[in-house]
Amino acid sequence: MTLIGLDVGGTTMKAALVGEGALVREGARVGEGARADGDLQVLASESRPTDRADPVGGVLDFAAHLAARAASLGSPARAAGIALLGIVDEATGTAVHSANVGWRDVPILRLARERLGIPVAIGHDVRTGGLAEAVLGAGRGAGDFVFVAVGTGIAAALILNGAPYPGTVGWSGEIGHVVVRPGGEPCACGNRGCLETYASAAAIARRHGEGVPAEEVVARARRGEEKAGRVWSEALDCLADGLAATTLLLDPGLVVMGGGLARAGDALLGPLESRLTARLKFRDPPRVLRTQLDDQAAVRGATILARRLLDDA
Ligand SMILES: [Zn+2]
Repeated sequence: MTLIGLDVGGTTMKAALVGEGALVREGARVGEGARADGDLQVLASESRPTDRADPVGGVLDFAAHLAARAASLGSPARAAGIALLGIVDEATGTAVHSANVGWRDVPILRLARERLGIPVAIGHDVRTGGLAEAVLGAGRGAGDFVFVAVGTGIAAALILNGAPYPGTVGWSGEIGHVVVRPGGEPCACGNRGCLETYASAAAIARRHGEGVPAEEVVARARRGEEKAGRVWSEALDCLADGLAATTLLLDPGLVVMGGGLARAGDALLGPLESRLTARLKFRDPPRVLRTQLDDQAAVRGATILARRLLDDA
């Protein structure tokens, strides 16, 4: 059994083919077969740029290419999962809106099913990443937790009983637009002082200036550069404000930090936990862990969605 997982981001599409082949070749579980999501192994990974001129056509072409590759490996794909950025209605399989790639109300589930001729599941990229952390990564065994992806923007996935909660119309988790500095810097959403205008990778780079990327700002802050230290410290303060509110509302047992900024590792986790502790006066803070799946979280989550289609069939 081979499954396709595809993660469509603003600049890059990432994909994986997963299946039992590697297990059989390694002789690890011959005859037993894959019984759980985590038993499936990555057979191949690929990425290609998001097609800015024709993003929907680009997704469908990439998915068709992956199906052809699965067939050439001797095991045709039986289902596909596709994780999308922006606002996603998982139930109807609709890409509702993404300002980043400029689509609106695209019936991507129907289009992909027609193109591939196999069952297809549609997910939201951050929620799908959170699902993968719940099944395969840092959230294993946690049950209820919050997955926070800090990259170009900031969004969260609320995982309840091991499954992402989409909200009533697919808008849950937009923590990046919680106001943490009233009257502060203008946000692309039209408001001011949103969390992601201070703490996203894009914001950290912009606030530091001089063309220094966020990861380098963090490195400079650790080396004691004053401006980088100020920008990074405020980003951490704002993240802690957002996560303190999240904690008070939801009482999660765990916060899993993902997205590009999670690579800051100890420079992120320790300072964030101490700031959370300082803000939560009458309760303990949740544990804060780093993603175990890194930038493959949404891809792996998409393969889990695909697998569950077959389980449900
Ligand atoms: Zn905003």
